Amino acid sequence: MTDQTSQTLESSLHGRLIRPGDADYDSARALYNGMIDKRPRLIARCADVADVITAVNFAREEGLLLAIRGGGHNGPGLGSCDDGLVVDLSTLRSVRVDPARGTVRVDPGCTSGDVDHATHPFGLAVPAGIVSTTGVAGLTLGGDTGYLTRKFGLTIDNLLEADVVLADGSFVTASRNENPDLFWALQGGGGNFGVVTSFLFQAQPVATVYGGPIFWLAEHAHAVMRAYRDFLPTAPEELGIFVGLKAVPSTEPFPREYWGKRACAIIGAYNGPAAAAQRVLAPLLAEVPEPAFNWMSEMPFPTLQSLFDPLLPRGLQWYWKGDFVKTLPDRAIEIHIEQAARAPSELSLMHLYPIDGAVHEVAQDATAWSARDASWSMVIAAIDAEPARADDLKAWGRGYWNAIHPHNLGGGYINFMMDDERDGRIQATYGPNYQRLALIKAKYDPHNLFRVNQNIAPAPASEVGITAR
Ligand SMILES: Cc1cc2nc3c(=O)[nH]c(=O)nc-3n(C[C@H](O)[C@H](O)[C@H](O)COP(=O)(O)OP(=O)(O)OC[C@H]3O[C@@H](n4cnc5c(N)ncnc54)[C@H](O)[C@@H]3O)c2cc1C
Repeated sequence: MTDQTSQTLESSLHGRLIRPGDADYDSARALYNGMIDKRPRLIARCADVADVITAVNFAREEGLLLAIRGGGHNGPGLGSCDDGLVVDLSTLRSVRVDPARGTVRVDPGCTSGDVDHATHPFGLAVPAGIVSTTGVAGLTLGGDTGYLTRKFGLTIDNLLEADVVLADGSFVTASRNENPDLFWALQGGGGNFGVVTSFLFQAQPVATVYGGPIFWLAEHAHAVMRAYRDFLPTAPEELGIFVGLKAVPSTEPFPREYWGKRACAIIGAYNGPAAAAQRVLAPLLAEVPEPAFNWMSEMPFPTLQSLFDPLLPRGLQWYWKGDFVKTLPDRAIEIHIEQAARAPSELSLMHLYPIDGAVHEVAQDATAWSARDASWSMVIAAIDAEPARADDLKAWGRGYWNAIHPHNLGGGYINFMMDDERDGRIQATYGPNYQRLALIKAKYDPHNLFRVNQNIAPAPASEVGITAR
């Protein structure tokens, strides 16, 4: 690729082409995870769909590695690449609510907070993750769990339609009726199939919730985790709560006497009035010791969604490990508590997010995301501000995961993985759906242009002949 060819690309874009040496190159290439330092050759900051088509065609014709950047929050930094072209969607951030239909059209650079902001005045929300700065695109394409999952399903279960730029530069819409194989693959198959330039979601009736965290000191973790495990299957789906092992943050407004102490927390939301929520939670709270503090209260849903944002600014070091979990026997709880006690930093945590209720009502082969038989999605996140601690974070994350993995299912959520997972892990994650994904990949991206992701290799030509379009 010569300077002249990149100038041709630049002149074809409505957005900007950012190169090494530009004043904002370092800020444009920076990712949420400070542990990842990638240096793309070109960053095409797309202003519209035409720019996306131009950038995809350019990368393919020039043989450049291509990465797609939505919110830039991905653990291993799969929204960027070294020495290739980044299709940067981060400035495409408009959201349009259709209150009559209860649907929401979302641009690919939107954060979860952008969507909550737009939907809340209409008494609506799209079920999505629990930190408002996370990108909707990567979240959705991976599957996505959050506070509303038990009642309304995964984010992909609320996806109605997606516009996609394919590897050959063509533009298609995918839905249950149009290109249904592609739509199926987008529901959990990550960024493997094309650049999604627009999402259409079904929104759900959510306005004020009773939510927030309840913290116990670590000495009560056994009792809390066991009580939570037994309580969850009995709780109404309006209550979305997860359990975590973490530390009380050493910052206001947390009570000073608990700062930095290891703890067990139950964090969640009830989509309904406070009195009903308190009735629902009473049997759980009756089973466990008095908490250090209980901060569940009524709040607008967007407030809950951004509650933890200040604790997790951009640029921290993150090392992620995940697994899907079917059961949580007492022995597994003991291992969690032993491992969490060795956390290398105050921010490091383990969360177990429920996979039940509405998620179980969808058949395993109805979407690419296949862990419909799991009960939780586990994440171990080793986090610290200090780059020199990176090796400690990785060692703890790996050691914890090695200790607990024998109690879990074979696969894990692709959005809770780094890019150092062992061979076969992605196949285990998609289980019986993997082969179909590989065939769809071969149909829409036979040369694996979209490979900066948790990659699904295209099925070999001999197998594709059976289903070629
Ligand atoms: C603080 C924090 C909180 C989180 N909380 C949750 C949570 O509650 N629930 C949950 O499920 N996950 C959660 N996650 C994980 C999150 O799902 C992933 O980090 C996800 O990849 C973020 O998406 P993004 O658009 O920001 O990522 P990016 O880094 O921009 O992209 C990630 C991947 O998605 C692909 N991609 C992005 N945009 C597009 C597009 N338009 N078309 C095609 N492919 C695309 C890219 O190929 C890349 O492989 C959290 C992550 C963080 C850092």
